[in-house]
Amino acid sequence: MVTQEALQDCFLEAGRRYGYDDVMAEFAQYRDFKVRWQRSYRWARFKVSDYLEDAPEKVVRDLAQSLFRRIVGDGDDGYTENVRAWVTSEGFREAKQQIYLRRSRSLTRSPVGDHQNIRDAYESLIAQGLVDNDPEIYLSWSKDADPGNVVRCSVLMKVVALSSLLDGKDVPGCVVEYCLYHELCHIAIGFDPTSEKHERSYDELEKRYPRRAEARQWMARHCLRIRGVSPRR
Ligand SMILES: [Zn+2]
Repeated sequence: MVTQEALQDCFLEAGRRYGYDDVMAEFAQYRDFKVRWQRSYRWARFKVSDYLEDAPEKVVRDLAQSLFRRIVGDGDDGYTENVRAWVTSEGFREAKQQIYLRRSRSLTRSPVGDHQNIRDAYESLIAQGLVDNDPEIYLSWSKDADPGNVVRCSVLMKVVALSSLLDGKDVPGCVVEYCLYHELCHIAIGFDPTSEKHERSYDELEKRYPRRAEARQWMARHCLRIRGVSPRR
């Protein structure tokens, strides 16, 4: 358990190593695992995801160290191995998925929509040999209705949420499948804060969905998009 005081100490100690004397750090209840900071050349303020509250102290020390390295421009290696190992561990997801879901207010917490069932799409992807059945994946509809971003996921929490815009009776099954598959590819590739979101290895995996072109054409006609994906790619 890392107390507020221990968090502050870890960050102050790391800061001193990089010439920062005025350092403050506190836990924040973000939905996603992240750290935000503000700084000048002499002070730094951090808000650290409270998902790290029960991490071993060395994980928090490493985090502080890697953030100061980034701040002073001494390399951007994402997080250290200790931090990555902790946030990608089975126990982490098990303990935090429920908290994440509680903080995800827009989720209906069910894969069964008015017209479409995301669970059916998932089973179809499994039957096509495109994904392995993973009982830890959590599927839900979301009340978000942003046509520019019809699907989102948390790789760490293994949660995929599809916008209610895809829950229409005229939405072809391949569109729901494709959007779900797109996010499952992110989860399959795993947590990597330093990589581009849709790099080449990602594209190759994603292009395995056989009705991709058909799904994307339908989406383009209806002005629905997955964030970060150009309609022409
Ligand atoms: Zn994506």
